[in-house]
Amino acid sequence: MIKYSVGIIGGGPGGYVAGIRLEQLGVKCVVFEKERLGGVCLNWGCIPTKALVKVADQFQEFQVAVQEGYLRGTAAIDFSEVKVRQKKIVEQLVGGIEYIYDKRKIALVINTVEVIKATNAGYEITAGGEQYSVDYLIIATGSKPKSLPFMPFDGERILSSRDLLSLEILPQKLVVVGGGVIGCEFACIFRQLGVEMEIVEFLPSLIAMEDEEVGKRLSTSFKKMKIKLHTKTAVEGYEYLENGIRLLLSNGKTLEADKVLVSVGREPLFEIKCEGFELQRERGFVTIDEEMRSNNSKIFAIGDVTGKLMLAHAASKQAVMAAETIYAELNKVKSAAANLRYENIPRCTYTNPEIGSAGLTEAEAREKYGEIETGRFMFAANGKALTQSQTTGFVKVIAEKTGGRIVGMHIIGPSATELIGQGGILLGLEADMGKVKKIVFAHPTLSEAIGEALEDLEGLALHKI
Ligand SMILES: Cc1cc2nc3c(=O)[nH]c(=O)nc-3n(C[C@H](O)[C@H](O)[C@H](O)COP(=O)(O)OP(=O)(O)OC[C@H]3O[C@@H](n4cnc5c(N)ncnc54)[C@H](O)[C@@H]3O)c2cc1C
Repeated sequence: MIKYSVGIIGGGPGGYVAGIRLEQLGVKCVVFEKERLGGVCLNWGCIPTKALVKVADQFQEFQVAVQEGYLRGTAAIDFSEVKVRQKKIVEQLVGGIEYIYDKRKIALVINTVEVIKATNAGYEITAGGEQYSVDYLIIATGSKPKSLPFMPFDGERILSSRDLLSLEILPQKLVVVGGGVIGCEFACIFRQLGVEMEIVEFLPSLIAMEDEEVGKRLSTSFKKMKIKLHTKTAVEGYEYLENGIRLLLSNGKTLEADKVLVSVGREPLFEIKCEGFELQRERGFVTIDEEMRSNNSKIFAIGDVTGKLMLAHAASKQAVMAAETIYAELNKVKSAAANLRYENIPRCTYTNPEIGSAGLTEAEAREKYGEIETGRFMFAANGKALTQSQTTGFVKVIAEKTGGRIVGMHIIGPSATELIGQGGILLGLEADMGKVKKIVFAHPTLSEAIGEALEDLEGLALHKI
């Protein structure tokens, strides 16, 4: 039996990153992955969706230019070429990670881990009938899409996000059940590609976990794009039609479509038998402390399976922290890992307009701090946004009233997913108004809208009445 210091189960942005950092630190580790390195993120999530977003946005921008009259002609989507491009990008990125693993000589087992057994020496992992002995374990098995209990995925008409990403032909009409981040991204992509779209959402607003103003602004944009919204509505049943599907809604109405994307959340994926120890879990998510340690001192868990913040960059940060903590323990030195403030990690939604947020929403900030200040600036008054014909949306910042520490930033508008990096830095460095005043934002940039929103905290935005 081969012995390693650390066994990592799952090769997504949590697991594969943990493997690289451990190898950099000189710790002998093995990564188990049942499909391909890169996990959901690179293969069936972040990257393939963003490849589609780019095409959808380009197509949309061309149409806006034609409407404005400065470009002429017509454009058409060749969806089979769009798919070729999507697969090429995924292949290049996954291939890149595989190359790094190969060059760094990180042990990789492409097989499913079935059993983990506690032994006197540590843990024994069984994968593909082989046994591996490890001192430490990092569980990074990720998550899977939730289905509606009465409506299982069939891969044909009732689709998960992975099924939808595998479609080779554009449907004529698509209904998305669930107006969260993933549902809204797909609705926007497919609408911009010309598909008739409707969203059914149980809650009163889209992306309900984001700041209320942002959710409202997104709904307005979606309506303008002719995405039909059914909020405060549940899907209660369905029936197959000859060439499609009919959904039965809680308001007594019915909807017909070629296909339905069910995106009502994701649940932890952990289908491994544990022998000789108990792994504490809550609603299926592995319980961890600030060091990513489970209730067993030598078992760590990272990424979606912990349910802390189901985003790729959160998984990767947790991975680095777990790896550095294990290295420190093995070498009896102080760990370099610092506490992770999950609320300050930027969150991005790739709709049109894009959304980027970090820190607390206005409602959360009011509840936590009582008195707060808010500052806003509209992209309509930003020069760069105007030159891009992308003036929809705003930047909103939230600060503590006493001391002026920035506690939240919410952006809906052009390049919001890039701009929010600045929010992440301000929050991460615990910047207050004193520090913020030293920053100069270049002109003409979209970032100036952040500068103006920050000035607006004191009622001093220059280009605002
Ligand atoms: C459509 C979609 C779009 C998304 N877009 C974004 C985005 O834009 N930005 C963002 O930050 N996040 C996005 N996410 C979320 C992101 O993909 C996840 O947060 C991230 O992949 C979690 O990483 P992970 O390493 O925890 O798990 P995963 O990426 O799920 O990786 C877990 C891996 O473990 C493997 N595994 C599981 N069980 C076993 C076993 N028993 N044996 C061996 N291997 C096993 C799986 O095969 C998988 O490869 C998106 C998700 C989806 C579905």
